[in-house]
Amino acid sequence: MSVIPPYSFELFPPRTPAGWEKLPGLIKSLSTAKPEFFSVTYGAGGSDQEGTYDTLMKVVDECGIEAAPHLTCVGSSRAKIGELLDRYKSAGVRRIVALRGDLPATAQSNEAPGDFHYANELVEFIRERHGNHFQIEVAAYPETHPQANSVDTDFDAFVRKAQAGADSAITQYFFNADAYFDFAERCAKAGLKLPIIPGIMPITNHAQLTRFSAACGAEIPRWIRLRLELLKDDKDAIVDFGTDVIARLCENLIAGGAPGLHIYTLNQADPTLAILGRLRPA
Ligand code: FAD
Repeated sequence: MSVIPPYSFELFPPRTPAGWEKLPGLIKSLSTAKPEFFSVTYGAGGSDQEGTYDTLMKVVDECGIEAAPHLTCVGSSRAKIGELLDRYKSAGVRRIVALRGDLPATAQSNEAPGDFHYANELVEFIRERHGNHFQIEVAAYPETHPQANSVDTDFDAFVRKAQAGADSAITQYFFNADAYFDFAERCAKAGLKLPIIPGIMPITNHAQLTRFSAACGAEIPRWIRLRLELLKDDKDAIVDFGTDVIARLCENLIAGGAPGLHIYTLNQADPTLAILGRLRPA
């Protein structure tokens, strides 16, 4: 069996008081798997900056593992992003996931309102302002970003983020390992050296997965969709099936040379730990 590469876990700021109460326990459970770092989303699902900051600080307080905020630039100004970067630097943050963010539903084009139009401009700004202080992660789309004009223009946009100074990339989730290998090969042919870390989505809830996948352009293969339809509301059976599917995907990715894994935990420890448990040699 191949050696398991480093992995990281993604959290979102809790949306309810009960979620905040559970957060320390969640972080503690996940930290037992010794991830390289936690990342904390921003803006997705309506979370605000304080939510991201407070979640970040909870990670540091509870387990001392590195925590990286996601930073989106859509609709923001250079001054505001500059202040946020300064705040993160003062708080000891060394890694940032730099993103454009999703456009408002009313947007007429793929260009974001505000001082930054695309994520490559945010990466440039962070480098200009803070040199190499931050390790910068950017997003990659093996199945192509849903609003991209074409596969090629989307890949060119990714190359611009790498050239602007990204250190590493985390992909949107996917269920077809070949999409990842094809993307990684394209990057190698283009001379890009940055590691491309596959984003891994546990399967725990059919309706939620269908909703997320429609929004972010991830394809659910027909056989997975049909099996989930068959399992209906049998939560345990869905989690068992999902763990099998995702553990096998991770094994294929690792065997094919993926340099790491980034798991979208959905703020649940068990599915992530179950997947990783399968990967550990007995
Ligand atoms: P970009 O790389 O700027 O690309 C956006 C689109 O513009 C693409 O279609 C691209 O092809 C196109 N494009 C780029 N440059 C040009 C150009 N010069 N001309 C024309 N078209 C261009 N969202 C959140 O709100 N909060 C989060 O915390 C969050 N975390 C994420 C984490 C990961 C790992 C991933 C993969 C996504 C995350 N997202 C998050 C979603 C992300 O914000 C959206 O997918 C967003 O629509 C694109 O962000 P980006 O940084 O990839 O943008």
